Amino acid sequence: MHDVAIIGGSFAGLTAALQLGRASRSVVVIDAGLPRNRTSPGAHGVAGWDGMTPAEILARFRADLVPYPTVTTQDGVVTTVAGVQDAFALTLSTGQAIAARRIILTHGVKDILPDIPGITQAWGRRVLHCPYCHGYEVKGQPLAVLAVHPMSGHQAMLLRADWSDDVTLFSSGMEGLHTDALTAAGVKLDDRAITRLQGDDTGIGLTLSDAATARFGALFLGPRAVLDGSPAQQLGCALADGPMGPFVRTGPMAQTSVPGVFAAGDVARAAPNINFALGDGAQAGTGAHASLVFPGFITPLEVSS
Ligand SMILES: Cc1cc2nc3c(=O)[nH]c(=O)nc-3n(C[C@H](O)[C@H](O)[C@H](O)COP(=O)(O)OP(=O)(O)OC[C@H]3O[C@@H](n4cnc5c(N)ncnc54)[C@H](O)[C@@H]3O)c2cc1C
Repeated sequence: MHDVAIIGGSFAGLTAALQLGRASRSVVVIDAGLPRNRTSPGAHGVAGWDGMTPAEILARFRADLVPYPTVTTQDGVVTTVAGVQDAFALTLSTGQAIAARRIILTHGVKDILPDIPGITQAWGRRVLHCPYCHGYEVKGQPLAVLAVHPMSGHQAMLLRADWSDDVTLFSSGMEGLHTDALTAAGVKLDDRAITRLQGDDTGIGLTLSDAATARFGALFLGPRAVLDGSPAQQLGCALADGPMGPFVRTGPMAQTSVPGVFAAGDVARAAPNINFALGDGAQAGTGAHASLVFPGFITPLEVSS
């Protein structure tokens, strides 16, 4: 029986493991190896690692855990998780069973990209999710934004304010966009659908519904993210509705609504960012540890329906 099983060994999960390893607690981290930003050539905005690839950063995280003999990291996919505080049971896709007294959910979310040919290949390279993470590298260039929810207008206005004088929002029939405010902010509106796109080393080419083409430095969009079938959903953690999709609700010690279950990183955030995942991961690690030392001290998050 492990003290803590951590489901997802990326930025949040490995940070949680480090806290617990330093308390000499027995921890197993199970990771499927697909961090959310895996297609990005460089992670930005993270002090000390700005521009390093996600894989390089995570390799350093794993190396930092090696000196802690009570921490085990394991490749694998957790397919089922059940049980109660002090007696959780996990099953991996290989059939392996793992028992743990506490669970930390750091398995992130799954992005659902719009169904446009070429988008998967360009995701993280020329199709970008966040101005703060990747806007600096394309600043001053013509930029496109694809409206996938009403907050996309906000993203276009952000980009127009501080990253480019030439921002076009492809509204794709989206309702709820504040078109007057967008126009006043200098954002160009285009209601043609994007039917195909192709990213390359210098930018991205779009084919539009009238067969016209247009070229930009990058296309920004905030995709919908889902938790379907995830361990968080299996455990019945209370969720909140964010603009991009559902996320696990947590309290100040990263506790969820389920006793003994903690959550950190993108799975428990409305907006993704490595820095937030690191802070949340540290909180979840110390929260889970406190609940082992002082049972009953951390009460589950109370949720009114
Ligand atoms: C394209 C892109 C680029 C980005 N660039 C930046 C950037 O430059 N700077 C920045 O601050 N943020 C960036 N982000 C956001 C950043 O990627 C996330 O905030 C960060 O990865 C969240 O870390 P996490 O540990 O919560 O989840 P993730 O990094 O998503 O890791 C979750 C891990 O859990 C594993 N997992 C999932 N399900 C299971 C399961 N059932 N069993 C076992 N393991 C499982 C996954 O395989 C994965 O390894 C970017 C996001 C995207 C989409």
